Amino acid sequence: MKIAVVMNDSPKSLKVGKELKQKLIQEDFEITKDRPNVVITVGGDGTLLNAFHTYVDQLDTVRFIGVHTGHLGFYTDWRDYEIDQLIKSLKEDTSKSVTYPLLEVELNYSDSEKSKKYLALNEATVKNLDKTMVAEVYIKNELFETFRGDGLSVSTPTGSTAYSKSLGGAVLHPRVNAIQLNEVASINNRVYRSLGSPMIIANDEWIHLDLKRGDSYQLHIDHFVMNQENLSSMTLKLSEKRIQFASYRHTHFWRRVNDAFIGE
Ligand code: NAP
Repeated sequence: MKIAVVMNDSPKSLKVGKELKQKLIQEDFEITKDRPNVVITVGGDGTLLNAFHTYVDQLDTVRFIGVHTGHLGFYTDWRDYEIDQLIKSLKEDTSKSVTYPLLEVELNYSDSEKSKKYLALNEATVKNLDKTMVAEVYIKNELFETFRGDGLSVSTPTGSTAYSKSLGGAVLHPRVNAIQLNEVASINNRVYRSLGSPMIIANDEWIHLDLKRGDSYQLHIDHFVMNQENLSSMTLKLSEKRIQFASYRHTHFWRRVNDAFIGE
């Protein structure tokens, strides 16, 4: 089995990552960044997001495992003191995995025929920070509303506990195959009106945003921020691809939610 170990730069993660690599080598695993079968991240959910984007073109062949060195995360199941147990599970591996939905984002530009595509694990957010963003929101080709405000964000089920939650979105169980649309500071008055509530979009539907101002936009795909000139429209839907996690253990989803947000 070929294993990549990806860690963040906190002293604790570097220490745990180093120890993990040494123990994996002792047990005859091959440590390599090149075409690994398993990617183990050491850090937090942010570290897993980073690793996801590094290996985004190898999702069919790679499985992820998250070791957390801070608090229990949504993508990180293992604690730093459980390295020996993790290595034992890797040795007994049966290739079982659990998969989670991903968001596909297609971007179109007014000055180019070429579109761009990205995959997001948490969410994609578009904002116009200079002026009010105006966007016609289509659901499955039908005009639903004209949004005015700071921006719009579309999240995956596993992203529902991240930025989406701060926007007032619902927390979705990752088995729910759907995406969620959230408004960022919409203008709602007698003249302008949008729904104002988060919307859960079914897996056979998609969201199309027709951006009404040919300005520059700020696009967030997970932790990446990109300025987009001449962005004219975006289509967001569930991807046919999914992220795979090695399923050696199962942490009850609502226990994670309790642990992260309530802590009792
Ligand atoms: P960051 O500072 O690395 O992350 C912000 C926080 O979000 C961290 O505590 C991170 O957990 C947590 N997080 C990431 N994915 C999560 C998930 N699926 N469920 C629950 N918590 C999650 O921020 P960044 O690098 O700019 O962006 C990474 C992600 O953070 C974005 O995709 C976005 O969803 C989220 N974020 C949220 C807000 C907000 O709520 N206002 C603002 C910015 C970014 P760890 O500490 O375990 O890494």
